[in-house]
Amino acid sequence: MFTSLSDRLTETFRNLRTKGRLSESDVNKTVRDIRLALLDADVALPVVKAFTANVRERALGAEVSEALNPAQQVVKIVNEELVDILGGETRGIRFAKQPPTVIMLAGLQGSGKTTLAGKLGYWLREKGHTPLLVAADLQRPNAVTQLEVVGERAGVKVFAPERGNVAGHDAVGADIEGTRSHGDPVSVARAGIAEATARQHDVVVVDTAGRLAVDADLMQQAADIRAAIEPDEVLFVIDAMIGQAAVETAEAFLEGVGLTGVVLSKLDGDARGGAALSVASVTGQPIMFASTGENTKDFEVFHPDRMASRILDMGDVLTLIEQAEKAFDRTQAAEMERKFLAAEDFTFDDFLQQMAAIKKMGSLKSILGMMPGMGQMKAQLDSFDEREFDRVEAMVRSMTPFERTHPKQINGSRRARIAKGSGVTTSEVNQLLERFGDAQKMMKQLAKGGGMPGMPGMPG
Ligand code: GDP
Repeated sequence: MFTSLSDRLTETFRNLRTKGRLSESDVNKTVRDIRLALLDADVALPVVKAFTANVRERALGAEVSEALNPAQQVVKIVNEELVDILGGETRGIRFAKQPPTVIMLAGLQGSGKTTLAGKLGYWLREKGHTPLLVAADLQRPNAVTQLEVVGERAGVKVFAPERGNVAGHDAVGADIEGTRSHGDPVSVARAGIAEATARQHDVVVVDTAGRLAVDADLMQQAADIRAAIEPDEVLFVIDAMIGQAAVETAEAFLEGVGLTGVVLSKLDGDARGGAALSVASVTGQPIMFASTGENTKDFEVFHPDRMASRILDMGDVLTLIEQAEKAFDRTQAAEMERKFLAAEDFTFDDFLQQMAAIKKMGSLKSILGMMPGMGQMKAQLDSFDEREFDRVEAMVRSMTPFERTHPKQINGSRRARIAKGSGVTTSEVNQLLERFGDAQKMMKQLAKGGGMPGMPGMPG
């Protein structure tokens, strides 16, 4: 899912990385690349148009952050726009004040409703609810049995009309607390809710029938069920693999039945992801859950922000970007840049300032952990001793102002004093001074070579 879109976007950002400043033509080219990448991922045209117009406007606009380089700024803008088209905030189920909360599932046949009912039931149960699944799909042969199987796997009760009383039969369905449900989906749904109330289930999930394509009968039936049971949520389940057809289908259900939320199913497939990126903005309803496989647990709450960073394939670079912005100090950065360009000596005072800036961003371990690719280095990261950082700081703080600005003058007796003052060995002080001397040399060479100092660069 999204791999090719991810690759394309990453490539686009890579091309920007060497730019010091973005010209209008850079922005136009970038926006064109993003537009093509989205269209190739099957995102609906109106969504693509609005998306790219926003990105372009913001990238050209006054929204310039001094803490970020141009590529990072574009990544940030694209990320925010992606979160926006994916629905913005994460939205959970709106539970009824007076139980049971009624959740109705709607969607085409094969979209994954029945499977979802089981997953949702399991998830609700794990959260401490006592859900009841109601089999109101009397259209598809076997749908009732399938729901029973799914419910059993999930450890959740299922309310179904008695066997044989499915579509076409007008025999009597389950006999519940005096309510007789007939072999029509509206009565079964109603009876299911009566059952939930009687047996104190606090959530009811009603599975309804779909057809292979949108048709008037199907819409009418779903609308009738909705009118009869007045659900708190109507979740539209859509197969993420159906590509461009997603928008049309979503619009039909929005119009014909009305929706309060969307569930994307089969997100584990190799779909290009256009449905995911189109449906929330086309329907104006949030994507609430994602279904990612055939098993009961292949299900997750949909978080627009996490999905966007997954699409951008940036690990937690986005968090890093945010933190760099927070920790950025303009005067300090300008001073560093001046010194650097003048090839002036980098001093221990500068070093202390940088350590402070890094600390503002969080622990070194957590910063390293957010770099893409660092996941595999988890073991090394875990053994990294944060206290090493403190020891270095203690050594620097034991230096006099003269020593900090003149590290080369730190002779043997000064070294011994610093070691004593900071509680380390003299050889640790020697090591620090040696590494510091190397770093100074390296910075000078870089400055002469005309390289620019960077805030945290784009990794990758
Ligand atoms: P319904 O007609 O809407 O009730 O759809 P079903 O729940 O019967 O699902 C149709 C088919 O899609 C079944 O074979 C399911 O096993 C499969 N399916 C449902 N959800 C997912 C999913 O998230 N991932 C994958 N790979 N298959 C799914």
